[in-house]
Amino acid sequence: MLNDAEIVKQFKPKPIVEVAKSLGIDEQYIMPYGSEITKIHADALKQATKQNSGKLILVSATTPTPAGEGKTTTTIGLGQAFTRLGDSVCLALREPSLGPCLGMKGGATGGGYSQVVPVDRINLHFTGDFHAITSANNLISASIDNHIYHGNALNIDPRQIVWRRVMDMNDRSLRKIVLGLGGKMQGIPREGGFDITAASEVMAILCLAKDFEDLENRLDNTLIGYSYTDEPVFVKALGITGALLALLRDALHPNLVQSLEGTPTFIHGGPFANIAHGCNSVLATKMAMHHAEWAITEAGFGFDLGAEKFFDIKCRLAELDPAAVVLVTTVRALKMHGGMDRQHLTTVNTEFVKAGLENLDKHIESVQLFNKTPVVALNRFADDSDEEIAIIRDHVEAKGILFAESNHFTKGGEGAIELAEKVKIAVEQNRPFKPLYELRDSVVDKIKKVCKAMYGARDVAFTKEAEVDLHHVEHLKLTGLPICIAKAPSSLSDDPLLHGRPRDFQVTVRNIQVNAGAGFLVVLTGKIMRMPGLPKEPAATKVELLEDGEIIGVS
Ligand code: ADP
Ligand code: MG
Repeated sequence: MLNDAEIVKQFKPKPIVEVAKSLGIDEQYIMPYGSEITKIHADALKQATKQNSGKLILVSATTPTPAGEGKTTTTIGLGQAFTRLGDSVCLALREPSLGPCLGMKGGATGGGYSQVVPVDRINLHFTGDFHAITSANNLISASIDNHIYHGNALNIDPRQIVWRRVMDMNDRSLRKIVLGLGGKMQGIPREGGFDITAASEVMAILCLAKDFEDLENRLDNTLIGYSYTDEPVFVKALGITGALLALLRDALHPNLVQSLEGTPTFIHGGPFANIAHGCNSVLATKMAMHHAEWAITEAGFGFDLGAEKFFDIKCRLAELDPAAVVLVTTVRALKMHGGMDRQHLTTVNTEFVKAGLENLDKHIESVQLFNKTPVVALNRFADDSDEEIAIIRDHVEAKGILFAESNHFTKGGEGAIELAEKVKIAVEQNRPFKPLYELRDSVVDKIKKVCKAMYGARDVAFTKEAEVDLHHVEHLKLTGLPICIAKAPSSLSDDPLLHGRPRDFQVTVRNIQVNAGAGFLVVLTGKIMRMPGLPKEPAATKVELLEDGEIIGVS
């Protein structure tokens, strides 16, 4: 089979303005960034003829291997299948971050015959949204330290600043730093640190904002720290909200591109689901739903992380309710969960597949907890055997759950027709979603409900620090917010090494951070960090710029 870059060269994308017009978007809202990418002005939502009529399909996955099991690729393939069936369809994906792109996982534009283009631009810089978010975040940081330097009228306690700097790069050396060293002219020394932009509260705010007014309110209400008298200090007090809005003006408008087979695709907002809420922007999802009969979006890592937040945070806030849930799984992931060594996952072995099925079972049950019935999509890899796939199909169908083998990677939309047909059946059986917890539940109860029901934990332990954090939340009267749990993505538990379906484990809550602007509480479990590190051999070592300007190694 050809590689990703060779496949892309076989297709000729349509001018993006034509793609936008095919969605019925009026010319005045089309803001092109070259011939292949455009932003669509948020006001296009008000003019859209379909007004939320599109059926929303959520694609999530079982607990992935570090390479990813194919949510993005399956979403694109499924969209292409709908396009082939003559249905009106639009996708809503997340924007790639340079962290994974140059680190371990690579880009986020799909693969094989299910890709979105232009691959290099989408993966590197795109329309500059990440830059805008990083700048807005760091303007807040710079303003805090500058405020303290110039006399600290707000009486901000430098030891109690909760706002951190961000950058869109994996850089573990910046997790904890001391700032302001060098004497009187260099600021006031204090401890600080960097998170990755995808974990930034500004990213979450942009993804959840309904419009500019909502964006402004959320920015104003963002907590930056506490004063010497323990009073909370919010962004509003810095007087920079106008500048923040200016920095984010263009970033708020969703980006439109297309798949290889011409399926319109919004790519907007890229929070990670292990350390943030993990869903693309509400505006982009609504754009897709307002302009097509079918709107397909993704949430992950696994269903436990991304989809839980999709339902409990995004759907609740934006009043969305998916008409079907696709649960992507792979033979290789199930083999890993069955106990097979990660180096050997391409070797055929039915016993490990069988042993790994309990991970899939847990995720099927988890979908049902939200009152939804999943369609299991087996994303087929070249090394998979028919025998291994038959085991999974029989197991799933015996439960009365819809199953489809999907060959979108090798065949594009054609390879996902069975999946599209199963999705159409699932939509007929759809019931309204029910959240996992109520907002009025106590914070501890919310955390326990998610840990027990979604992860399968026996119990939850809170460190002393987390208990102090809980008092802060109560003092701020923010106990009614939903929770956003940061947890290891490679396990259902908070221990990254526990595969399969761990039972009888305890989740440790280390910290609870207040994201008052985004409107949720970030609950840090286990050893999860909000700034990843690079692996021994980063993907960056495979990237090259050729003489003719072509970039290779980014896909
Ligand atoms: P996710 O969105 O769940 O993280 P992706 O769709 O990005 O996963 O897929 C992860 C990686 O695996 C990508 O590099 C993609 O090209 C590759 N991939 C996905 N499906 C297949 C497949 N069926 N065969 C080979 N490679 C695949
Ligand atoms: Mg993805």
